[in-house]
Amino acid sequence: MTQLTINNQPYDLLKQQFKTSPYTNGNGHNGHAVATLEELEQPASKSAEQVAVENAVYTILTNIGEDPGRQGLERTPTRVAKAFAELTSGYHVDPQALINDAVFDVAYDELVLVKNIDFFSLCEHHMLPFYGQAHVAYIPSGKVIGLSKIPRIVEMFARRLQVQERMTQQIADFLTETLQPQGVAVVVEGQHMCAAMRGVKKANARMTTSAMTGSFKHNPQTRGEFLDHIARHGDH
Ligand SMILES: [Zn+2]
Repeated sequence: MTQLTINNQPYDLLKQQFKTSPYTNGNGHNGHAVATLEELEQPASKSAEQVAVENAVYTILTNIGEDPGRQGLERTPTRVAKAFAELTSGYHVDPQALINDAVFDVAYDELVLVKNIDFFSLCEHHMLPFYGQAHVAYIPSGKVIGLSKIPRIVEMFARRLQVQERMTQQIADFLTETLQPQGVAVVVEGQHMCAAMRGVKKANARMTTSAMTGSFKHNPQTRGEFLDHIARHGDH
């Protein structure tokens, strides 16, 4: 196994490590007698971005006083890079492809509401998770969107570095642009690990944000109906 005690050239060390991995060199091995399932699922080549993130994680490990070479951490840079790629995959979602023929002309002008959409995001200030539930409603004006698309819209905006306020607004704006409805209402309830785990350590503090447009903004009755629906379901 590569001796990983030198910390001034992690990039070269990692390159060396990758060069001897079974995925980039059929003859070599990386210290494991048998490749793990996780390793077998690795693509044969890594993108420059993935390697760069791996190197950055290696640097973090080294500088927080860890030994990136010990068994449990050996593949941590790779795992973290993959996890971050997934958790920030919203940057690469094509909104038009996501909607993909799921907008329909329908003469319906009552409240459409999707409640309790679980989301997981990363705060842009600490890159720590915040997560919770989103409630999304709109009142159509001739167009509706397939119900399954709304959680995917939430996910597209959640899987990025975010602040909850902006995420809430982006969901509302996207539906407004896509459907041009009579109104859109989005309420997001989130728990922020950066607040729970550090600093003030308010583990149960929840943050609620909302964005209301059109009839939800201007008609108290419409807004009230929406908020009643959420409250009723929010009890459990
Ligand atoms: Zn934060």
